[in-house]
Amino acid sequence: MPVRRTMPSVGRDSVAQHVAVIGAGIVGTATAIELLRDGHRVTLIEPGDPGGEQAASYGNGTLLNPSSVIPMSAPGLWRKVPGYLADPLGPLAIRWSYLPRLAPWLWRFLRAGATEARVAAVAHALRPLILDAPERHRRLAEEAGVGHLITRQGVLFVFPSRADFEAESLSWRIRAKNGVRWLELSEEELRQRVPVLDRRYKFALLVEANDQCRDPGAYVAALAQHALALGATRHRARATGFRIENRRLRAVRTNIGDIDCDKAVIAAGAWSKTLAAAAGDRVPLETERGYHVVIENPGIEPRYPIMPSDGKMACVMTPQGLRLAGQVELAGLDAAPNWERAEVLRKFARRVFPGLSEAAQVRRWMGHRPSTPDGLPCIGSASDCTDVLYAFGHGHVGLTAGAATARLVADLVGGRTPSIDLTPYAATRFR
Ligand SMILES: Cc1cc2nc3c(=O)[nH]c(=O)nc-3n(C[C@H](O)[C@H](O)[C@H](O)COP(=O)(O)OP(=O)(O)OC[C@H]3O[C@@H](n4cnc5c(N)ncnc54)[C@H](O)[C@@H]3O)c2cc1C
Repeated sequence: MPVRRTMPSVGRDSVAQHVAVIGAGIVGTATAIELLRDGHRVTLIEPGDPGGEQAASYGNGTLLNPSSVIPMSAPGLWRKVPGYLADPLGPLAIRWSYLPRLAPWLWRFLRAGATEARVAAVAHALRPLILDAPERHRRLAEEAGVGHLITRQGVLFVFPSRADFEAESLSWRIRAKNGVRWLELSEEELRQRVPVLDRRYKFALLVEANDQCRDPGAYVAALAQHALALGATRHRARATGFRIENRRLRAVRTNIGDIDCDKAVIAAGAWSKTLAAAAGDRVPLETERGYHVVIENPGIEPRYPIMPSDGKMACVMTPQGLRLAGQVELAGLDAAPNWERAEVLRKFARRVFPGLSEAAQVRRWMGHRPSTPDGLPCIGSASDCTDVLYAFGHGHVGLTAGAATARLVADLVGGRTPSIDLTPYAATRFR
């Protein structure tokens, strides 16, 4: 049974289109707003609450980092993996029963960062998606009435020593080539700026151009609310596929019936793989499961978001308390959370902030990063039908890159040439 349309149909010949946006995380909600701004009619299809706990956009590290151009895969990573896996406080875990299904993705992942040239190419391709992210998000947040959620104090990358920073010189060199600038802080300067930090950290970089969205769940909920206020319709539904006739899109199929539309945007995060397959593209999309712990009343308040080099996690203040976000667990979409991974974050935080309150209440969360092997998203048209557009696969940087992605998708829907070359994001690169 088709779902009843709540607004008059928009003709195909008209510039304005009826666009179904599948998924209301940061990518879907920002895309909805950009499309509405261009005069299109928008229907949001989302089974949960926009910005709710099911979405990666809810529980991430909150960072809007133009400096995050470096993909996870790096030269020589395969040599470090056994050590990470053996370390109970390590940043990486693999559910062994999942390994047979994971293996093809893992192979592509390791190859994607096997040489400096490959890492540099990914960084070059990521940069335009995140370069002006703070400004884009500030504008969006202000428009949605939550401008106060976007704050700038910079992000502090802390190292036990300068030698530990130098051990990461490849990634910082590539960042520098992509326009990232930082201030080096000596031990004394670091101590003055963050007295609550453990004394084993003796060197730091401050990237002043990095921002924070203090409450990403509330931000995404506000963007969805704003889209509705601008005229979007919302269906609490799960998209299951498409009705495509003669290579033109007629409807998005959902668990509550077909929703007629002219165009559809797949922005369903880690759940986008089967939808892309229904539109003609086999994309090796995995979930890199991540965790967070929020420590309410932590007894300390670091002035900056902090990334400890030996912890591979974000330590950030949020309205709910100190959030520790990180971990990569490769275990698929369906396995139950392993809260031991969250405990790793909490334990490590005590090594970062010795004054952290023991008595504090703790909240835990697990979410799904939508990850391609090369760390680049899929943005562009589907192979079987150009009316279906991709906006997924942003991995570790989706909060940051969501705003620019939204603009690019709106350009495609409007028939405009996007401001940047979309070739690196084509889903067909995995053929
Ligand atoms: C621990 C952790 C830390 C992170 N830290 C950062 C950070 O500091 N900065 C940063 O930029 N990024 C960070 N990320 C990554 C970032 O959170 C994600 O890349 C981003 O949120 C992805 O947004 P999205 O809109 O694509 O997907 P999601 O936010 O996951 O939203 C997808 C939505 O689609 C819906 N959906 C699923 N299936 C269907 C369907 N069939 N039909 C309709 N709707 C569907 C889901 O319910 C969900 O609401 C982090 C991620 C994690 C897990």
